[in-house]
Amino acid sequence: AKAQGRNRFSYFTPGLQTAALTRLRLTNDLRAAIADNSLRVYFQPIVDIHTGRIQKAEALVRWPHAQLGFVSPMEFIPIAETSGLIVAIGDLVFREAVIWVKKWRELYHPDFQISVNQSPIEFQGDQERYVNWIHHLALQNLPGQAITVEITEGLLLDASQKIASKLLQFRDAGIQVALDDFGTGYSSLSYLKKFDIDYLKIDQSFIRNLASDKSDIALSEAIIMMAHKLDLKVVAEGVETQQQHDLLKQAGCDFAQGYLFSKPVPPEEFEILLQQQNNS
Ligand code: C2E
Ligand code: CA
Ligand code: CA
Ligand code: CA
Repeated sequence: AKAQGRNRFSYFTPGLQTAALTRLRLTNDLRAAIADNSLRVYFQPIVDIHTGRIQKAEALVRWPHAQLGFVSPMEFIPIAETSGLIVAIGDLVFREAVIWVKKWRELYHPDFQISVNQSPIEFQGDQERYVNWIHHLALQNLPGQAITVEITEGLLLDASQKIASKLLQFRDAGIQVALDDFGTGYSSLSYLKKFDIDYLKIDQSFIRNLASDKSDIALSEAIIMMAHKLDLKVVAEGVETQQQHDLLKQAGCDFAQGYLFSKPVPPEEFEILLQQQNNS
């Protein structure tokens, strides 16, 4: 059977064979990493453009791999989606976010919020899961407003009852909803009216050339204006330079996130940013 298995691989090109093996190995390693609790959650500040203060954080999962070093989420999130491990990852990121948002609200900022990403695969799953999340928040004496859920626009196009009822479930609990990577997907804007969304996150591809590309400025301004008309707040992603920040401020953007302020950092390091801010 072993020889046969080896022969089967000869149907593939060496490149594909390596890719398939890498995938299999990464899936197994990821399962093990979840089981032995070695995934980490980092936090990146989201700054109020007008006050300059850190108002929120985005939770981002990190996988330190013994042989490979940090594996990028761009590489392992798709694997987690196809293997179903994404649900366990989403749950552990949520739990970790709750621990820190509770502490940081008590110590530094009563309105602090942490956002967690939900991939379409997990969002389309079991509704009971979010009942558990809401229950967990209540047990921790936290209002729903402490957590924001980031989803992508493709989900809303689907417009199924299952999606709508989950968004209602969040609204009833006070959990806010952000549309991630806005502008890269289908951008049928009618869903913005139909669903109760709280934030738009302008994708970093619009921000990157803001200082040199007039059409990117025009697009960002249009998105911000439209969002405000619909009572949504706007977060700009991938803000790396002061110039981008200033242009976004002029355009009326509400929040900014990016390396200009900080890369994603471990919670202990994030806490130092909050301490410094409180002392200044
Ligand atoms: P995203 O949700 O759009 O997250 C923002 C990504 O942009 C993060 O990459 C962040 O490190 C990066 N970033 C932040 N500021 C800057 C900047 O100024 N310049 C540049 N070039 N990049 C910046 P990261 O952490 O590698 O995550 C990549 C993607 O993986 C995320 O994109 C998200 O789609 C997914 N992801 C990460 N963590 C999770 C998670 O816990 N659950 C799920 N479902 N997906 C996750
Ligand atoms: Ca995100
Ligand atoms: Ca994004
Ligand atoms: Ca809402």
